[in-house]
Amino acid sequence: MAKGEVSSPILTAARATELLGTMLGGYNVAPLIELLDNPAMAEIAAKALSHTLLIFDAFHDVQEKAEAGNTYAKQVLNAWAKAEWFTNKPEMPQKLTVTVFKVTGETNTDDLSPAPDAWSRPDIPLHAKAMLKMPREGIANAEQQINELKQKGFPVAYVGDVVGTGSSRKSATNSVLWFMGNDIPYIPNKREGGVCIGGKIAPIFFNTMEDSGALPFECDVSAMAMGDVIDIHPYEGLVKRHDSDELVCKFELKTDVLLDEVRAGGRIPLIIGRALTDRARKLLGLGASTVFKRAGDVAASTKGFTLAQKIVGKACGVAGMRPNTYCEPYMTTVGSQDTTGPMTRDELKDLACLGFSADLVLQSFCHTAAYPKPIDVAMQHSLPDFIMNRGGVSLRPGDGIIHSWLNRMLLPDTVGTGGDSHTRFPIGISFPAGSGLVAFAAATGVMPLDMPESVLVRFKGTMQPGITLRDMVNAIPYEALKRGLLTLDKKGKKNVFSGRILEIEGLPDLKVEQAFELSDASAERSAGGCTIRLNEAPIREYLNSNVTLLQWMISQGYGDVRTIERRIKNMQAWLANPVLLEADADAEYFEIIEINMDDIKEPLLACPNDPDDIKPLSEVAGTVIDEVFLGSCMTNIGHFRAAGKLLEKQTGDLPTRLWVAPPTKMDQSQLTEEGYYGIFGKAGARMEMPGCSLCMGNQARVKEGTTVVSTSTRNFPNRLGNGANVFLSSAELAAVCSIMGKIPTFDEYMHYASQISETADDTYRYLNFNQMESYQKQVDSLKAS
Ligand code: SF4
Repeated sequence: MAKGEVSSPILTAARATELLGTMLGGYNVAPLIELLDNPAMAEIAAKALSHTLLIFDAFHDVQEKAEAGNTYAKQVLNAWAKAEWFTNKPEMPQKLTVTVFKVTGETNTDDLSPAPDAWSRPDIPLHAKAMLKMPREGIANAEQQINELKQKGFPVAYVGDVVGTGSSRKSATNSVLWFMGNDIPYIPNKREGGVCIGGKIAPIFFNTMEDSGALPFECDVSAMAMGDVIDIHPYEGLVKRHDSDELVCKFELKTDVLLDEVRAGGRIPLIIGRALTDRARKLLGLGASTVFKRAGDVAASTKGFTLAQKIVGKACGVAGMRPNTYCEPYMTTVGSQDTTGPMTRDELKDLACLGFSADLVLQSFCHTAAYPKPIDVAMQHSLPDFIMNRGGVSLRPGDGIIHSWLNRMLLPDTVGTGGDSHTRFPIGISFPAGSGLVAFAAATGVMPLDMPESVLVRFKGTMQPGITLRDMVNAIPYEALKRGLLTLDKKGKKNVFSGRILEIEGLPDLKVEQAFELSDASAERSAGGCTIRLNEAPIREYLNSNVTLLQWMISQGYGDVRTIERRIKNMQAWLANPVLLEADADAEYFEIIEINMDDIKEPLLACPNDPDDIKPLSEVAGTVIDEVFLGSCMTNIGHFRAAGKLLEKQTGDLPTRLWVAPPTKMDQSQLTEEGYYGIFGKAGARMEMPGCSLCMGNQARVKEGTTVVSTSTRNFPNRLGNGANVFLSSAELAAVCSIMGKIPTFDEYMHYASQISETADDTYRYLNFNQMESYQKQVDSLKAS
């Protein structure tokens, strides 16, 4: 219609062109550029393009037209150079008046976007109804209470003591903004903007708020109560009672750039728009634009770099990246799982992405495969093609947990991200993010990052008998608690790891599968990322194995083949010239925590229901246990063998309900071959399909109010089951609990632990696919064909 090829009695060509201009980019861009040559429509098309940001390579088409003398194309370039897309939007006002919706204690992302309602996440208005659905102090019906607060005539702001802990799910942000944000013109069922105030706001949640154009900030919220009306003075950093001078609290914005982000409608539109403006100004020979606030300079330092700073530096083409520097590292590997995947898909469509620029994007189905709803099945059918058509790699339902696969595709010393907060690479580094940022990283191949500071955890000494790696995982918060660097109380909570990079040294010979147990748990510390210093030998062993796995994937019909082949070549190139980055001896850390393994003489457990609440075994021994879960991305094949060897000697019924879920189908098939499935079955265990199972709690769940020992990642209230009390421990200790029906004393535990150590060499073997005949045969036949 805009081109005049067809007509309509209800829509003129001019209106059709205007409507094309309401799209954010993608399929509307080419016709709008074409219309710049149409005398009747060119002015409208130029106006539309002037505020369109998702232009990508079509920039060259506008440039060509301008150089050929098209005045409307020149007008578009000038509008981009002047940042009219930004300056035409209203500035942040001097004062914002809001009504407080106060949520006391900690709100984690499970409270905002409950796992059992994960299926409805892409339907934002529907999913928002599940926000805070579990009654808590002062909140019985969140939606009704928010609607009542709106009657005061002001927008409602989310105010909490600790906000957004837990996962990276953008659905948590979407739900908050559905109630507290603003409509987006021409985009239904989604909102942007809004205000979120927290005594502490979890870093990933903070970022997803920024991405959505909200104003998040941290301050002392103790003087704000449900229903208070407050005036926020964003430029002065003051919160006052409405229309009074009574000061409620002072605050500092994380950066002044936040004001630009709110004005632009979010961090992502700001980044893309700024790049478009810079590009147009460069073409027109103009200097840098002065309309944007830029991050301040970072103090120069002559000190060395940490491992994380070197890895990020490498991804940005420099020697190292100093903390607090804004950068855009290249994203080598991006992961997407199935409860956030549909939102990532929607964000990719919003970004008009038709092909990934990140080197490898992987999609999994680990959260929904076991007990899918019809909506999950539909997603499982459509999402693989969506990903593979853009050059990504898609797993299949039943394959297993995203991280256990994605880790096997990593390249040393590279950077990535993923839409799951446990995207925590054991080699290289990852910065997990919400679906908006993950889509941005996948589409553009870079990710905006304010380089975090680092906290070094250095292990020394020797691991004591009966002590496992999971105890080392728990030793990190345990030591931080002892030193006052971490506190349990949610009011005024201290957490030295929050938003920082956790860098781990002192266990360089761990297998990479083991190292992941440490990096995975950095999510529970609310760390922004994690690095582990490993020696070349375990990495070489892992990559040799993974090359075979990827070749086997091709033989089994996985796609996109070109992407998998490229990754194999890159792995082989590293193996041919294995160079690993290392931290400089004089690198600067925000804090150094030393853990002497000689001092850890009994297992450590995270107690109900806080992954930071670590206690030694002797303090909780004797607690009656109803259910035990062996599974999650924290487990590897060694854990299941250890448990199987203890269960094999068990006669009679277990006093507990035992759940077993291996992380991948490769673990499942190996455990079956070695007879462990027979042992688990005989013991009466409930065998779950490879995947997240109870860890996510969105499908099967433990019984209400039971006491559980779990090997999963986190024990937030209600995650594994309503009102469940969950201890997190090693698989070895969990297996003992399943046999005894209680948490054992130290002596009881050691009775079993000594049995495990007798056969440790056979138990703790990992999946080296290059040495496994069944995989090698398939690869050989592929090569032969
Ligand atoms: S096993 Fe748990 S932590 Fe790991 S990816 Fe699944 S839900 Fe997330």
